[in-house]
Amino acid sequence: SPVPDYLVDVLDAVRSIDDGAPADYIEVLAKADTSRLAVALATVDGEVYAAGDSDVAFSIQSISKPFAYAAAIEDVGLDAVLARIGVEPSGNAFNELSLEDGTHRPMNPMINAGALATHALVAGPDASGPQRVERLRTLMSAMAGRELGYDEAVYEAELRDAHRNRGLAHMLRAGGIITAEAETIVDGYVRQCSVDVTVRDLALMAATLANGGVQPLTGRQVIHRDGVRQVLSVMTTCGMYDAAGDWVSNVGIPAKSGVAGGIIGALPGQLGLAVFSPKLDAHGNSARGVAVCERLSRDMGLHMMDVS
Ligand code: GLU
Repeated sequence: SPVPDYLVDVLDAVRSIDDGAPADYIEVLAKADTSRLAVALATVDGEVYAAGDSDVAFSIQSISKPFAYAAAIEDVGLDAVLARIGVEPSGNAFNELSLEDGTHRPMNPMINAGALATHALVAGPDASGPQRVERLRTLMSAMAGRELGYDEAVYEAELRDAHRNRGLAHMLRAGGIITAEAETIVDGYVRQCSVDVTVRDLALMAATLANGGVQPLTGRQVIHRDGVRQVLSVMTTCGMYDAAGDWVSNVGIPAKSGVAGGIIGALPGQLGLAVFSPKLDAHGNSARGVAVCERLSRDMGLHMMDVS
């Protein structure tokens, strides 16, 4: 197949991009090796291609949010999820302290307020903190096709410093959106964000979304189709922090990025892709990662609005 050589060429073409900086709100991310660069593609029929540092693991961070949203829909049903979390792009920072007037709902599940509210729904209303965390680890593992673990250093550093997320969780509790202890939800959310993944894992997780919830290698239906549609819709409008408009017009693939430098894309019926490089642009998206995705979309004709 020409794909592996093509992927190496794409990485070489963006390697000189040196814009941006790694996330610096915790030491362990600030000192990331910024030379790292990786890409992986997984087709819905189970072909996986990777190039660059594709075996290097990093924390999933906000890329866990769509998977937690999928779990919540699966575990309590879409209506119960929509009663607590909206689906509108916020136009504000991902960690904005604000809720919708009247309903007290967070704007969407991709900002932290919505992600904390989502986490609280995982594994159902009677779940304990450890049950929610394990449900998410198990679901993400089933999508990756291997047992995933945690980056303990990231977990500990984030938890020590999670004051803004604590503020958000207390705001959600005061608004009646969550009923569990705020600290338990923050701890579980920080755990969820510390899951350790490679681009290969993420490409398969994205391919599972692209494949209607069926993991391409194992053939297991890990989430229902209607949940997948909801998740991909919210990724399209809210997945790339405040660069959604640029992303949808330039790349045109439902996506989610994370602060460690990962990005996933899931093109329904076709493939999942993942990129990794730690330096982030002004929107908080991996600078080289965005460039890789723009090239892949253009070269391979992946834009979802193109007529094939
Ligand atoms: N754990 C990070 C936070 O909640 C995730 C940020 C991100 O990837 O956007 O602040």
